[in-house]
Amino acid sequence: MKLSKKFENIWMPFTAWEDHLNYPPLIIERAKGIYIYDSQSHSYIDGIGSWWTKIFGHNHPYITDAVKNQLSKLEHVMMAGCISDTTLKLGELLKQILPKELTKIFFSDDGSTAVEVALKIALQFHLLNGEKKKKKFIGLGGGYHGDTLGAMSVGSIPKYHAIFHKSFKKALFTDQIDCYRCKYGKKRNCCSAECLDSLEILLKKNQEEIAAVIFEPLLQGACGMRVYPVGALEKIFYLCQKYKVLTIADEVATGFGRTGKMFACQYTQFTPDIMCIGKCLTSGYLPMAATIVKEFIFDIFKGDFLSGRTFEHGHTFTGNPLASAAAIATIELIKKYKIPQSLASLSLKLSELLNEFYRYPQVGEVRTLGMMGAIE
Ligand SMILES: *Cc1c(COP(=O)(O)O)cnc(C)c1O
Repeated sequence: MKLSKKFENIWMPFTAWEDHLNYPPLIIERAKGIYIYDSQSHSYIDGIGSWWTKIFGHNHPYITDAVKNQLSKLEHVMMAGCISDTTLKLGELLKQILPKELTKIFFSDDGSTAVEVALKIALQFHLLNGEKKKKKFIGLGGGYHGDTLGAMSVGSIPKYHAIFHKSFKKALFTDQIDCYRCKYGKKRNCCSAECLDSLEILLKKNQEEIAAVIFEPLLQGACGMRVYPVGALEKIFYLCQKYKVLTIADEVATGFGRTGKMFACQYTQFTPDIMCIGKCLTSGYLPMAATIVKEFIFDIFKGDFLSGRTFEHGHTFTGNPLASAAAIATIELIKKYKIPQSLASLSLKLSELLNEFYRYPQVGEVRTLGMMGAIE
């Protein structure tokens, strides 16, 4: 099939050109709730929520109005020397739903940049602390943290990362945390997270050089919606504490109530030192992400212009007021609808209904975690 002329100028992300010729992308004109509509008014259920961003569905009147209102006042102002009052308000609201110990919010544009910021903060934190050797990161086998160079360096999905890991320094990686194909022959939730013994080996051997361990809590999304037990997450935190290494929780996919807690780490009693959020922050209206740190990390960066302690990082559109307005509306809806507490029965229902797919021989495993569901 010949691709229509319309696509000639476009390089589609994550898409092979030949496949693209045979299966041209849907051209979407409008959307409402869970549905997206193409130019012939065919409707499709957006089951992946446009890359896991749509916690309130498409075109939610409350969020749409909030963005429109903001648009009539201030569309953008740079966030250096200035900050929009909307972004300030967002900071206050976010604080109310974040784990208490996470106090300083650094805004950026997307999940990848939130991760870049987290890695840079960890590196500079150690330098300012006089720990000059702490320059390496540990990631989890199968981890995904975005597609920019730094974020890729801590990711370990061969299809995405292998050719680039050859060209620049990659991180150290643990075993795969794959409960469905557990190489230790264990069953999900009946193990001691043997796969993470590899983390202890790495920490023991490289403790002096490790800047931080970065992980997707409870759910490794991009590598195949792998859900892993709370005990395994606790083991990551416990080992990082034991070897005095910073933790970076990448909650870009798992944040904002999607797993049944506001943030997946809250299934444990631990709070990460650094946390990345994105995707659902604006309900998928506009690009925005944030990296949030504990006070003891921010403390090290305190000082004036001449102190050399400044975190020299920022993006043109950081703290964009339109995105901030969408994020404020999102958090207001989260509070209004008592998310995640109110989702308990719905999550159970999702799990029950998805389990019906077990009747098909092609189905290996049905995995749910809160309102996230996947079928292997
Ligand atoms: C999507 C994702 C990212 C990258 O976010 P982008 O907005 O695509 O840059 C990082 N980490 C996780 C866990 C993700 O799911």
